[in-house]
Amino acid sequence: METRSRPFGTAADAANVDERATLEHRANLVRVILDAVPGGVIHVALDGSVVEANAEAIRLLGYRFDELTHRFTMSLETTALREDGSPYPISEYPATKVLATGEPQAPITIGVRRPNGETFWAVFRAVPARDTAGTLTGAVVSFIDITERKRAEEELRRSEAKWRSLVENLPDCVLIMDREGRIEWVSRSLPDLEHQQFIGTPSHAYVAPNYLDEWVARFAAVLETRAVTRFETRGFGRRGPSVWYETTLVPIVEAPDVPVERVLLLVRDITERREMIAGLAEKERLASIGMLSASVAHEIMNPLTYVLANLDFALSERCPPGARKTKALIDARDGAGRMQQIVWDLRALGRTGSEELFYVDVRSVIETALRLAGPEVAKNVRVSVELTEVPGVLASESRLCQVFINLLINAGHAMADLPTGERSIRIRTRSDEGANLVGVEVSDTGIGIEAENMGRIFDPFFTTKATGTGIGLSIAKEHIERMGGRIAVESEPGRGTTFTVWLSTTRVLPPRAEASAPRCGSR
Ligand code: ADP
Repeated sequence: METRSRPFGTAADAANVDERATLEHRANLVRVILDAVPGGVIHVALDGSVVEANAEAIRLLGYRFDELTHRFTMSLETTALREDGSPYPISEYPATKVLATGEPQAPITIGVRRPNGETFWAVFRAVPARDTAGTLTGAVVSFIDITERKRAEEELRRSEAKWRSLVENLPDCVLIMDREGRIEWVSRSLPDLEHQQFIGTPSHAYVAPNYLDEWVARFAAVLETRAVTRFETRGFGRRGPSVWYETTLVPIVEAPDVPVERVLLLVRDITERREMIAGLAEKERLASIGMLSASVAHEIMNPLTYVLANLDFALSERCPPGARKTKALIDARDGAGRMQQIVWDLRALGRTGSEELFYVDVRSVIETALRLAGPEVAKNVRVSVELTEVPGVLASESRLCQVFINLLINAGHAMADLPTGERSIRIRTRSDEGANLVGVEVSDTGIGIEAENMGRIFDPFFTTKATGTGIGLSIAKEHIERMGGRIAVESEPGRGTTFTVWLSTTRVLPPRAEASAPRCGSR
């Protein structure tokens, strides 16, 4: 540090020298402080000329110190810009306004184009400078560089606009919900419901009553596990539960240890797909009736021949009256009874099958399916059936019958290339009383399903067969899920496959509907 020796002179001279030194020291200190602050600072005199500028002001404005000082603010070759990019008039400069009004000016964001063409953005403030008597002597302008922040904001805005336009043009509807499931934002309206009506309403208000429990459980699981979940649900519009949605719930995780506050919901209208699959289901049903009818016709031929032979004998002169005739008629009646059974079974499968669910005994449905599919499937196949007493399940009999027939036919196909002695199908009932479920297992000793196909076998049109359609299992799954059940599969390539159909024993139905339940295979 510089040390100065005091010159000889009077005490007053000495005091003056001391005071000057102190002032100089202060002035230096102020300069050092000003140069150290992260913002630009300019002192503008009353006539608008720049008197002082700190290092940051010089850096930002792009002038040398001597170029900047003693020039008038209005003569600087910079251009000021508003945030919308339009020119900012000199009369509006914060310094100009302070000099005109003597009042401090509120912070304002201004873009400044430097002489070299570059632009920086800063928040400008200006306050009046006054002497000890309070007279206005100029203005002090300070400004903080926010170019980087502006650039980041601009980047964010651009990317937000990009995402927004993407989201708004998606065929899917996107919603954001809070952790209570209230809708905070929606990309567009859903069929049948207007956009603004959504905001603030609970998302579950749009779910059909039968699907509400699943919705609530899935939503809670997303908050808890933070895992994405996808499921199909039924929408509840003004005109009733008319729309099918594929729904994906995505937790918005802001930090690993912070609870999930928002959930993103992607909604895809799959009503048409569901209707198409329902249409295919109908075709598949008719096709399976067609396919089975050849073998069923063959099945009928045996008892028919038997009936005709017995009747012919009873009517012939060879048949003595009395016990022999009665026996022939009883045999004919037995044969007719067998035919009636087959026709009943076919009729049960032929019913369109409504969506209504009734309590059914799975065992009688399995028996019907076996009677119908048996002739087609069970040729040279050992079939073992273990049907224990199980509670009634909620199902549509004809559809359930169709599902079992499909599983049996698939089991038959899977074993087609095996030697006769190795073909075996086992059907057994299971029950999970704790979960109020009854299961039906259909196992085969066939070729099994390769691991890479396991996730695809229920997809519509997935088939590994040369003449397959790939719709049987997708329809089976659709039917079972609509009954509130599920279908599971386990398989070991080369050893066999087990499909298990689980159905619910709960959900209470109106007694009237139950009483009028059509029964598959009933007579
Ligand atoms: P499709 O029988 O017309 O192929 P499905 O939807 O019924 O249509 O079956 C889809 C696919 O699932 C079949 O092509 C087959 O690869 C597989 N699959 C179904 N059941 C079995 C089974 N029991 N054993 C082995 N593979 C099976």
